[in-house]
Amino acid sequence: MSSPKPAWPDSIARASVVAMSIYSARGGATNALHLDANENPYAPPPVVGASDYNRYPAQQPESLTARLAGLYGVDTNQVMVGRGADEGIECLLRAFCEAGQDSILTCPPTFGYYKTCADIQGAGNVEVPLSAAYEWDIPAVIAAAKPSSVKMVFLCSPNNPSGNSLTREAILSVCDALPETLIVVDEAYIEFSTIESLVDKVGTVPNLVVLRTLSKAYALAGVRGGALLADARVIELLLKVLPPYPIARPVEAAVLAALAPSAMSVHAQRLAETLAERNRLADGLRNSDFVETVYPSDANFLLLAIKDEDKLFARLRQFNVKIRDYRSTTGRVRVSIGSPDENTIALQAFGVTDIAERADRIGETFRKTNETDISVRVNLDDVKQTKISTGIGFYDHMLEQIAKHGNMGLTMSCEGDLHIDAHHTVEDTALAFGSALKQALGDKAGIGRYGYVIPMDETQAQVAIDLSGRPAAVFRGEFPTDHVGEFPVEMCPHFFESLAQTLGAAIHIDVKGDNSHHMIEACFKGVGRALRPAFAISGSDIPSTKGTL
Ligand SMILES: *Cc1c(COP(=O)(O)O)cnc(C)c1O
Repeated sequence: MSSPKPAWPDSIARASVVAMSIYSARGGATNALHLDANENPYAPPPVVGASDYNRYPAQQPESLTARLAGLYGVDTNQVMVGRGADEGIECLLRAFCEAGQDSILTCPPTFGYYKTCADIQGAGNVEVPLSAAYEWDIPAVIAAAKPSSVKMVFLCSPNNPSGNSLTREAILSVCDALPETLIVVDEAYIEFSTIESLVDKVGTVPNLVVLRTLSKAYALAGVRGGALLADARVIELLLKVLPPYPIARPVEAAVLAALAPSAMSVHAQRLAETLAERNRLADGLRNSDFVETVYPSDANFLLLAIKDEDKLFARLRQFNVKIRDYRSTTGRVRVSIGSPDENTIALQAFGVTDIAERADRIGETFRKTNETDISVRVNLDDVKQTKISTGIGFYDHMLEQIAKHGNMGLTMSCEGDLHIDAHHTVEDTALAFGSALKQALGDKAGIGRYGYVIPMDETQAQVAIDLSGRPAAVFRGEFPTDHVGEFPVEMCPHFFESLAQTLGAAIHIDVKGDNSHHMIEACFKGVGRALRPAFAISGSDIPSTKGTL
């Protein structure tokens, strides 16, 4: 007697996997006395840095599934966290493809690891190639995926290496036409695209699987962290074939730190900068004698058709620049978007002589203590990049004044112990701000160094600044009230002391007036105004007879 056909997705998974239960690795250390996993009771030597490394981690650390579910906007039972998106692909093949029997479908040229995993598993690979212009043939994909032996269709969007994307409608039409088949949308580069992610359809479209990675947009390639997002029933099957303890404890800590809420605005600014650099690199490369075509890209790389190849590769070696060589499969090469300085070198290697604008002066500080968690990014050359959130409305407004009048971009996010008072938040953000400014100034070549201004209304503030490298703060002024909003007025001089300390500057302020709000605002505006000429590039010398600042 044959048993009834199991329900989807068990119906398309390998029978041996359906019959399995999850390998029972212990679910992370609790505060019980753990004599259940043959661990060593002693913490490893302190060089390793963490006292809990002698304990096995949880199979799926809850902190991480919760953070990634939050980041991508799905439920925690719709996430599988693994060693990169790559591990999600491995598990899909292992759970659904019977060796010598089943297949995946791919649309080459695309990410090579899908086929590698199929080869390892002994599964077939049905190919529906992209057109010469790298467009997908959706009706052909649907037709080729009809046989029940095709268990999953990989749609890489934005596609690596071509850089173009499928529309949401096209992908959903494939999901709709092949309701039994898993439609795996690899969104490794979606953060760089204007097309919206399909994560909002996870669960409601049962056969949709979305791969996301922390390697690209979140700068964590060396950590190995990624997520597979799918209907909870699919996740349940995949967890059966996920190897034990895939997330090492230091990986969990690194991911949580890198994705701290205070860091998200800096990630957003970096992303914006990568997109701006993608434009600059593409514009530059179009002027290269070695480049025939720069393909449009929704990702953090550009695909190029090139000419005079031998000479180009000789130049790339000379400049010590490595690019990805796909000439044997597509006749093309792929160049990743680097930092502004790196892109400038790449353009030089491509023989581009007319290179647009020097790199922006940028400084970043991440500062975390028990009292505050802060990220700051300053851009001395792009005033548009300003977004401030410290939890103290008046103080945000004051920082905006410095940014505006200092003619700089300032992204600042702080989660501070405001339930106590404003003190730590103001002090620590000022310290972090000063460090970021100092970093952005670099060797200070060409800067004006000094600046001063005398503003405003019934209040008068005189500000003099010297970016001397030596911290000093002198504040003269009496405020008529204790507070402005939640902001204690004594934090105004303290802010400038802290800023002077990490910026390495002498800041002198004299303020007179009848209204604390005006007086503080005049100080912040004045410092911004004074910093503007001090930061401005007016030559190339270091403005000191000592030759260093
Ligand atoms: C880089 C890349 C991945 C791998 O991501 P990891 O999270 O680093 O494993 C997956 N898919 C595509 C298309 C990629 O380019």
